[in-house]
Amino acid sequence: MSEIKSGMLRKEPLIFEKSQPGREGFSLPPAEVPRLDKLPDSYLRKEQPTLPALSEVEVIRHYTRLSHWNHCIELGTYPLGSCTMKYNPKINEKIAEIRGLTSLHPAQSQDDIQGALELMYILEKELCTLSGFSRVTLQPSAGANGEFTGLSIIQKAINEKGEAQNRKKVLIPDSAHGTNPASVVLNGFKPVEIKSGPDGYLELESIKPHLDSQLAAIMVTNPNTLGIYERNLREISKAVHKAGGYVYMDGANFNAIMGVVKPADIGVDTMHFNLHKTFSTPHGGGGPGAGPVGVVKALEPYLPVPVIEKNEQGNYFLDIYRPLSIGKVHPFFGNYAVLVRALVYILENGSRGLAEVTKRAVLNARYLRARLSKILDIPYKTNTLHEAVFSDRKLKKETGVTTMDVAKRLLDFGVHPPTVYFPLIVSGAFMVEPTETESLQDLDAFVDIVSQIISEAKSDPDKVKTAPHNTGVGRLDETYAARSKILRWKNKK
Ligand SMILES: *Cc1c(COP(=O)(O)O)cnc(C)c1O
Repeated sequence: MSEIKSGMLRKEPLIFEKSQPGREGFSLPPAEVPRLDKLPDSYLRKEQPTLPALSEVEVIRHYTRLSHWNHCIELGTYPLGSCTMKYNPKINEKIAEIRGLTSLHPAQSQDDIQGALELMYILEKELCTLSGFSRVTLQPSAGANGEFTGLSIIQKAINEKGEAQNRKKVLIPDSAHGTNPASVVLNGFKPVEIKSGPDGYLELESIKPHLDSQLAAIMVTNPNTLGIYERNLREISKAVHKAGGYVYMDGANFNAIMGVVKPADIGVDTMHFNLHKTFSTPHGGGGPGAGPVGVVKALEPYLPVPVIEKNEQGNYFLDIYRPLSIGKVHPFFGNYAVLVRALVYILENGSRGLAEVTKRAVLNARYLRARLSKILDIPYKTNTLHEAVFSDRKLKKETGVTTMDVAKRLLDFGVHPPTVYFPLIVSGAFMVEPTETESLQDLDAFVDIVSQIISEAKSDPDKVKTAPHNTGVGRLDETYAARSKILRWKNKK
């Protein structure tokens, strides 16, 4: 495997530093109308602003070079565990860009936006079919926002039963995503950590001591962050319901079970989807996303408003008169363009296609797991679905090279590192999620690169410990870089 030698792209000055006095990137004809000098003095600048002066091609080259500093799925493998960085077909983008969709205004009258309402209505129905829930709200703007919404719904339901004073406990396995305890606390609940069993499963036995009148809910990431399907969830759901609690499922990993398992069938009361992971929409860098939340019949009254309904004449309308609703969790209808992409993705795949996506995602992950287990330490031997989590324990002991070093060295080969140091229950975690969109050749190339890095760790550990060598910037002091950002150029005069 060869490293990417991108010397030419390594250093790029700021656009201000490239500026040459008098250079121009435009040529406009002289104005045909007289100049208007009517602005009051107080609104006028006293000094010319310092703007960079460059030609058009210089500007284009500058930004194109900078764009090569970023890794993206269009450039290469992106096995960021828990994030499902699949390649998203460009047709989804094209359709989300259709003028009739992008130029809608959310305050237009309902008669005007029948098409948009129908689109959301159909998407809701599709998500209901895939999950087994009776209704889905499309409003939440991300997974974490969905968690907040689902737990607010549970909160409201408990409140309606007059049990709000007592039921405060939400059980969270130690293999949960970090957003889960945060959403619990934001809703005024108390998180209680549950240890996973030795093989990574959540066990009914460890839940039992908490099945009392203080139990509000259990919040389970399934498959969990080790990539393991929680085989005891059906049994656990029953026990939680019997104790008067609710079951929240973090469905961000739906790509591993879509078209195969319907969460409502295994006793889940409410769950969020991550449309930007499972159902298209390129993500990263903080958005935009969508985290629709599905609920069983009993929780329907608490859904955020508005809910989209269809009347007997076949017209769509917004139902806002829902006295038990938790209110709104996002302005208007949510991140609409993300919803458009998700519906396109669902319709282009069809139900069989979506199940096929899942099966391939699992097959790819299991293939990588089987091959990488020969070179990396894998602490949980349990079979996994869509991702696999390795540890640097042995490597570190033998060579001093850590997960972070391997991740940095991967950059030299034009590969995005996997998720590192998460989940916390694996020391030096290296969490790989290839998704269904990587080919066998890409998977093999990834294994070869990791293999080479592990050999280097043994023969020349310094090379790995000082990586990356071929990127725009080398090894950063990550804390310093995060805390002391310099985001603004200042004219040194
Ligand atoms: C990504 C993820 C989340 C959070 O989703 P966001 O859209 O980033 O807010 C929650 N749980 C799991 C398991 C995830 O992978």
